[in-house]
Amino acid sequence: MIRIGQGYDIHRLVADRPLVLGGVLIPYDRGLLGHSDADVLTHAIMDALLGALALGDIGHYFPPSDPQWHNANSILMLQAVQQMVHKQSWQIVNIDSSIIAEQPKLKPHILAMRASLSTALNLPVERVSVKARTNEGLDAVGRGEAIATHAVVLLAPLTDL
Ligand code: MG
Repeated sequence: MIRIGQGYDIHRLVADRPLVLGGVLIPYDRGLLGHSDADVLTHAIMDALLGALALGDIGHYFPPSDPQWHNANSILMLQAVQQMVHKQSWQIVNIDSSIIAEQPKLKPHILAMRASLSTALNLPVERVSVKARTNEGLDAVGRGEAIATHAVVLLAPLTDL
């Protein structure tokens, strides 16, 4: 048996916020608005992991109403979700993800994001894919008002691999 999960997230880009993607601080004059650190890439991966086991969504476990998650490091939240996956006797085979952002240019940061997620999840970096693209100038993402992400994960029983 294997399981597959998909996740999506979008956060608004605003002034006076850090831009954190996959646990990496990206130099930019704006950042993502959110209750936690608004790491939109890590959030999509968390949602994909939860989805693979039909465990609901990230809002259920990390509600914006809970002050515990105010400016929280999303990597710690991701590790908590991975613990839930392990508790149910599943493990991550691989992750693929896409970041959709008009600005800043993310290509120079792809490897750092993959390494950060790989370290956080104790997975070989070859099993963690991060891709980046623009929205061709279309819609709110294309106007640079937001960054969106998609993620897919594959799970296998903990005993395999
Ligand atoms: Mg989010």
